[in-house]
Amino acid sequence: MGDVRKGLVIVNTGPGKGKTTAAMGTALRAVGNGLRVLMLQFLKGSWHYGELDAVQAFGDNFVMKQMGRGFVKVGGAETDPEDLRMVEECWKEAEEAILGGQWDLVILDEINYAISYKMLDPEKVAEVLRRKPEMVHVILTGRNAHPTIVELADTVTEMREVKHAYQKGIEAQRGIEY
Ligand code: ATP
Ligand code: MG
Repeated sequence: MGDVRKGLVIVNTGPGKGKTTAAMGTALRAVGNGLRVLMLQFLKGSWHYGELDAVQAFGDNFVMKQMGRGFVKVGGAETDPEDLRMVEECWKEAEEAILGGQWDLVILDEINYAISYKMLDPEKVAEVLRRKPEMVHVILTGRNAHPTIVELADTVTEMREVKHAYQKGIEAQRGIEY
């Protein structure tokens, strides 16, 4: 295996299922290799996801934080200032985590939604990604990844929806969807 180590910027986007869970799979792999992982979840907060409990087993090596409250109302003037404030707070913590040196992998879950809802400036994000410490890996998830982010990323995967159980009227399943 390669000896040249380099921190990567990875984007999981597209309409199909698997963006967040693929990031968590990578996190598991990273933790197993002794890397310290922080996952910050933009916008999420109303659902209790199983992974929040599962990562407790990893102590300080894998920390996950929900930084939103879910059910965001978006679109220009309709955006609730409280949601904006929470996105700003999450971004502040993300910036510190990426630049701080305490974490080897920083996952910015659903950040692409925050950007596409115009709650976060893609240029601000790009600027931090460009001057991140060499060895830090960053994963950004969510649909509609911004072209600026896609351009500077090293690895970009677009999940394509072939079909989803939801279309058959099957509700979100515990342990699979949350
Ligand atoms: P997952 O968290 O399962 O990896 P995701 O991160 O790709 O999904 P999101 O856009 O973050 O997808 O969606 C959040 C929720 O919607 C999850 O519960 C997810 O399983 C579900 N979901 C994802 N894709 C679809 C889809 N195409 N149709 C309906 N529900 C979906
Ligand atoms: Mg997701």
